[in-house]
Amino acid sequence: MSVTITQARPEGSPETATKELQQRVDRNRKRSNRASNLKREANRLCKQMYAFLQEEHPSIPQEDLNVLEKAGRQISSCATHALYREHLGGASPVEYIGAATCKHKICPVCNSERSKRLRRKWMDYLTANPKLLEEYDPMHLTLTVPHTAAHGFRGEQFYVMTLINIFKEMRRNVWFSGRPEVLPKYCEETGKLLRKGRDGIEGMVYAGEYGAEVTRNEHGMHFHIHSLVFVRKQLQNRNELHRHILLAWNWATMDQTATRQHFRPDELAAIKKGNKLLTDEDLAALVPQGSTLVGLESLFVMSDKRLGTSDKWDAEKRQWKHYVSKNNLKSLISGVMECLKYHFEPLALKKHGSPEYDFQLLLELLPKIFGKPLYQKFGAFRGVTELNINPPKDAAGEAAELLQDYAHEEVINPDTLEEAEREEYTYFVACVASVYHFNEHGLRPHVRRNAPRVYLDQARTMGHALRVMIDMSITKRE
Ligand SMILES: [Zn+2]
Repeated sequence: MSVTITQARPEGSPETATKELQQRVDRNRKRSNRASNLKREANRLCKQMYAFLQEEHPSIPQEDLNVLEKAGRQISSCATHALYREHLGGASPVEYIGAATCKHKICPVCNSERSKRLRRKWMDYLTANPKLLEEYDPMHLTLTVPHTAAHGFRGEQFYVMTLINIFKEMRRNVWFSGRPEVLPKYCEETGKLLRKGRDGIEGMVYAGEYGAEVTRNEHGMHFHIHSLVFVRKQLQNRNELHRHILLAWNWATMDQTATRQHFRPDELAAIKKGNKLLTDEDLAALVPQGSTLVGLESLFVMSDKRLGTSDKWDAEKRQWKHYVSKNNLKSLISGVMECLKYHFEPLALKKHGSPEYDFQLLLELLPKIFGKPLYQKFGAFRGVTELNINPPKDAAGEAAELLQDYAHEEVINPDTLEEAEREEYTYFVACVASVYHFNEHGLRPHVRRNAPRVYLDQARTMGHALRVMIDMSITKRE
């Protein structure tokens, strides 16, 4: 069971309470705006996909085209049923509750939902288990491999699973997980078999999770691993772990087709500068054909404003990178939330610098990522079901997930900020693409005048309304 934090009416002075309630309203409007915009993006994707399917493609097997057509059908059904709450009287303000989604890996709406759900689960988990952040240092690990436009990585253009497998292999090292034992070990006193991981050998990483990200640049498709690792506290733990990973990753990612045959002196100097535990022997052991790009850093948040003197300017994102305080649970959690943002980034499916999707690429990529776990937990998190983000099995499961995501708050009229009684609002179902938000109206949701909406007058609770909405979407799909 995951822990749900009920947000009661904020305490404190009336001014602070009002401010917090207004923030809550603004957050909901932003979320509503995002859902509608992403659905419109999904519609553009589907429209382009159908246009592509209309053309003649003698070189593409029919079964591949069928996969694309099926994806299009699935994605076009996404978020066509969403639940809204309408307050009666006044200007009838509307709040967005949640949508029935398609769960397709390339759906813009679903990727955003997954990312948000994952962060909500982590937020609940870390709040309920504060010891985790007291006892371990969370760090953000980024791994990549050398790749070229001509050869990809080891001759493979879509090397994401290779990358994931090399990472998996690396985690088996004793210095990492402390676990791998070739021979079974028995307790000397009792003669009992000591299970893996209980033999007293501690690795540096207690637990973690990762996601694979795809980006594109002039060298073609590029895959990274973004991982959140909980590292045992000890002096210089970042440098020690970084050293281990760099040496292991460099060897494991060796690629004979790599363009780099020698290190330049300035490259070696830069590597050495990144970690003061690296010795000259370590540098001599590095192979030029393997990756030397291993990012391991304390958690940070990206901010438009400079928050501290040690903040670093990120020229690409045009934001300040602010490292969060290790001694403050709240700021550590915000760092975890930032780290998790890098999972489920929309796959880079558009032609470089253009609003057009690249369906040739999509056709090649889809079979490579279909049913593949691009997001995983490892170490002590493996059995933690609260952090699972598997799609729910049925309508009841989906309604329960949505309820957990959004039902934290008591009902407030977004205009008056007063608590609303049950008689003062109603629920309706509409497609998120029929809802518009304008900056000049503070992103207040407007439902298009003649857009179809179905009022759920029978549904008393939000849970009931969500269930009815999801049933409606399933009936539609069938
Ligand atoms: Zn979807």
